[in-house]
Amino acid sequence: MTVVLDEAGPSPVADSVVNDGCHGGAETLRAAARAAGGSELLDRLAEDYPVGPHDRPQSMCPAFGSLRVGLRMRRTATVLSGSACCVYGLTFTSHFYGAKRTVGYVPFNSETLVTGKLFEDIRDAVHALADPALYDAIVVTNLCVPTASGVPLRLLPKEINGVRIVGIDVPGFGVPTHAEAKDVLAGAMLAFARREAENGPVLAPRGGPSDRPTVTLLGEMFPADPVGIGRMLEPMGLAAGPVVPTREWRELYAALDSAVVAAIHPFYTASVREFEAAGRPVVGSAPVGVDGTMAWLDAIAAAAGVPARLADEAKNRQLGAIRGALAGSPVKGRITVSGYEGSELLVARLLIESGAEVPYVGTACPRTPWSEADRNWLEARGVEVVYRASLERDVAAVMAIRPDLAIGTTPVVQKAKEMAIPALYFTNLVSARPLFGAAGAGSLAHVVNGAIGNKARFDRMEAFFDGVGEGDTAGVWSGEPLKRPAFREQMRRRRESASKAKKAEEMI
Ligand code: SF4
Repeated sequence: MTVVLDEAGPSPVADSVVNDGCHGGAETLRAAARAAGGSELLDRLAEDYPVGPHDRPQSMCPAFGSLRVGLRMRRTATVLSGSACCVYGLTFTSHFYGAKRTVGYVPFNSETLVTGKLFEDIRDAVHALADPALYDAIVVTNLCVPTASGVPLRLLPKEINGVRIVGIDVPGFGVPTHAEAKDVLAGAMLAFARREAENGPVLAPRGGPSDRPTVTLLGEMFPADPVGIGRMLEPMGLAAGPVVPTREWRELYAALDSAVVAAIHPFYTASVREFEAAGRPVVGSAPVGVDGTMAWLDAIAAAAGVPARLADEAKNRQLGAIRGALAGSPVKGRITVSGYEGSELLVARLLIESGAEVPYVGTACPRTPWSEADRNWLEARGVEVVYRASLERDVAAVMAIRPDLAIGTTPVVQKAKEMAIPALYFTNLVSARPLFGAAGAGSLAHVVNGAIGNKARFDRMEAFFDGVGEGDTAGVWSGEPLKRPAFREQMRRRRESASKAKKAEEMI
């Protein structure tokens, strides 16, 4: 359900920034944000989430990432401030993914935006919501237009009636992917919780404090994975700590109180900054396959000061089980991997150890120190690893390699299927499986081998539909569709001059 928290009244929004969004105008919005005093914010985002070589990696609206993190937390209210169409899309998508939680919305018009009334409306909405019987925290998110207009969420009260107020800016023109937007919120919450812990006693985790030093797991993962990782850590006298983003505010303190932080997903830059400020060592990569698990256990032991003989014991316990699982579920075939979850390199490692040939891995996420071990391992095996991969780059890889299976995002999968190449959605079918230790070693083979085995069906379908037309000649026609190259050229020239005129206008 979406609740309108303050009725500003409909009126056309005149400010130029309101008409630009994720389909263009990023430069205009960035310039507007800087003019409105947002330079520090933009510089921080550019440093945390650098773009390049591609500045448009594959992603849905970035704010979906932070929205989902907030909606998954107990006793946390969520308020969006942005254009109605953005809020509609975001709430639609979150409910499509089963959020079943209310999303608050503070609407605006040109007047409330320009006069600062929108900020007052947000502040009033937050005051009205802040009921400590219901909430530990309220997350307020500025989307593109309020960020570009400099709506100052930092000026909101930090706490109302004991309810924490966390204001974040998640503009599409500053946060490249929805994965990194999860970090924006997780990092803001960790910063808040760290200040609280520094200033006095804080709540223990729901089940009480762990009797062993813990390893915080950074990055959303399949629910069975933290349990499996906990078993791996046992012989070293360690326990799996909270998964960040957490499901409850009090878990943030336990996450900060860990012995080591495992950056399982490598793009949590702001969160890592908070852990490092709390004095916690951060370890990259993850316990994936034989090589990955062995190296990860060594790195965790070194960071936690665990004697080498205990690390050896932990490795010995895992080694046989993972080797057995890999041998029992071999994968044969050539597979391309692309996605925007941040775990693409880990999935590729597991596929290769399972026997697959993986010539290409594209990830929308940036290169960071915490995936270097995975990149080195993959490149040593001849894999091309592309960070900040655009859709075009991922599709080009599929077209050039013509794999037995393409794992990717929806448009990549669609393109592969058009070419009669079996394909699997990364997010729904690959991310939704255990990945680590022995459980992960056997989990991918079933779905991957099943998909590769479907090739004959794709060939039959391609033969069946051969000649029905494609692109703008697809569909039912009473006669042969007429191509009009002259009209097409005229339209192309018109678009080109419109775009040139817009650029010239922006430069004035
Ligand atoms: S908030 Fe999201 S949907 Fe709206 S303009 Fe920005 S990137 Fe696009």
